[in-house]
Amino acid sequence: MGWHFSGAVFQIAGQPVTVSSDGNNVAFNCVNILGSGPDKRPCGQAVLLVYQHGRRGSAAAIPAECPACHRLYFLDPPYTDPPPEPPAGQRQLRNAVMNIV
Ligand SMILES: [Zn+2]
Repeated sequence: MGWHFSGAVFQIAGQPVTVSSDGNNVAFNCVNILGSGPDKRPCGQAVLLVYQHGRRGSAAAIPAECPACHRLYFLDPPYTDPPPEPPAGQRQLRNAVMNIV
């Protein structure tokens, strides 16, 4: 059993990020900045996180890796067994804020 992310807010470094989620699966485009000067651009590769025990991206020890640039990502709060509660004051997951680190 994992969380269902429908309606949750995701952010990277405090900035909202657009994700596609289904159940406890979260996909987003890699935000790693590649190149320099006028060639600077976000990586943009699709990355998948699975918020379930032992699955990629569920904790710092099991990060998901961008298949293009190899940046590592995981969700915060990390998944624990039993699963963590939504942040204090956010009993409704719909309003929960999840960080992608
Ligand atoms: Zn990347």
